[in-house]
Amino acid sequence: MSNLHEECGVFGIWDPEGHCAETTYYGLVSLQHRGQEGCGIAVNLNREITHYKDVGLVNEVFNEEILQRLPGNMAVGHVRYSTAGGSLRENVQPLVLRYIKGTLAIAHNGNIVNTLGLKKSLERNGAIFQTTADTEIIAYLIARERVNTGSIEESVKNVMKMLKGAFSLLVMSPQKLIAARDPWGFRPLCMGKRDNAYIFASESCAFDSIDAEYIRDIEPGEIVVVENGRIKEDKELTGKNTSLCIFEHIYFSRPDSYIDGQGVHEARKAAGALLAKQSKTEADIVIGVPDSGLSAAAGYAEYSGIPYETGFIKNKYIGRTFIKPQQSSREIAVKMKLNTLKSVISGKRVIMVDDSIVRGTTCARIVNLLRSAGAKEVHVKISCPPFMWPCYFGTDIPSRKELIANNHTIEEIGHIINADSLDYLSIENLHKIAPYSNLKFCDACFTGNYPIDVSDAETSK
Ligand code: SF4
Repeated sequence: MSNLHEECGVFGIWDPEGHCAETTYYGLVSLQHRGQEGCGIAVNLNREITHYKDVGLVNEVFNEEILQRLPGNMAVGHVRYSTAGGSLRENVQPLVLRYIKGTLAIAHNGNIVNTLGLKKSLERNGAIFQTTADTEIIAYLIARERVNTGSIEESVKNVMKMLKGAFSLLVMSPQKLIAARDPWGFRPLCMGKRDNAYIFASESCAFDSIDAEYIRDIEPGEIVVVENGRIKEDKELTGKNTSLCIFEHIYFSRPDSYIDGQGVHEARKAAGALLAKQSKTEADIVIGVPDSGLSAAAGYAEYSGIPYETGFIKNKYIGRTFIKPQQSSREIAVKMKLNTLKSVISGKRVIMVDDSIVRGTTCARIVNLLRSAGAKEVHVKISCPPFMWPCYFGTDIPSRKELIANNHTIEEIGHIINADSLDYLSIENLHKIAPYSNLKFCDACFTGNYPIDVSDAETSK
């Protein structure tokens, strides 16, 4: 039950039947796990782009009346969790920009590393920014390029060459819907179809909810353009040095999604099985910490032969209305979110599978919940290696001094979280969890091996 967040989820559709705002609404609800701070939808009707966005969950921001005020046969939508730029209302996306060639709407997932240098040089030439999000820099660059190039997709391509870092982008111009993914493929982006409609989404689970069919992933570096129902693909910037965020498989993405050929549930199960293979532990039951620990726990149980059990019940209805308690009563916060099934836990030697440990405080509270429920032993298995380094590509991993694994040995962490034993997935096994993936992986937060130079980003931290 990691407290880590990712920056965003994006959704876009071209549909001659219209109702694009409604379809985008359902798509965004399916992507809500990728960002809960704000959301928005921009629609295009006869080359006119209008939009609505606000802070809040998708079903808080939108209702039927608002959606009916957004007619169009093209749309882009966005759910946001803020890392770069903070959680200001004006940073909610899509960003809609009016310039000499018309209007552009942009939805972005990821984090750009060379923001500072780009922003400074734009400001020196008179640019004024209204938000603190790096997406505005991308939007500004695309608009500037468009003035001197023949098409919007050419401008997007030129800008992609300037950017370093993670970006899965959806751009809507008066006539076109464009999907583009950074050449490293840090964040996922895929394409689907429903009748004559073309759809793009951060994760394939968004297609299931709207009865669309998953077609394929956008390749790292690829640009796909939809215009009048025709698809154009540009693969000039695609390369072999891919680095999909491996934490998408461990934690971020929904288990019912497929990313670049690999099922997320299957990758988590594989992580659990590899943990079981890594070291043998005698126990009576295996339980997973909801949500992302569940698939890994199933994999652990299957490989080890130790029975899988439901150990926790998660309260799904806390939502944003939940008042966060004071430091002194943080235990209540965990209990509100997660309760133990005492009849299952009491008197048992428990293997508890979770996705990650960041600062260690949440994990310690969960172990204590199991102890209070009468667990005889608690063995903690973590389905990724220890977090040691920050992420510059859209995950809000805290600074190094706050990461527990940076300051303590695994044995010490085991004592701190009050576990009888603690085991993390090894780096070597981490790279075995997604054998069907078409892409190579970024593992920098575990190894410090950043796939691209992050020295520009260092100065901005
Ligand atoms: S540093 Fe970690 S969280 Fe960030 S993209 Fe790489 S694997 Fe993902």
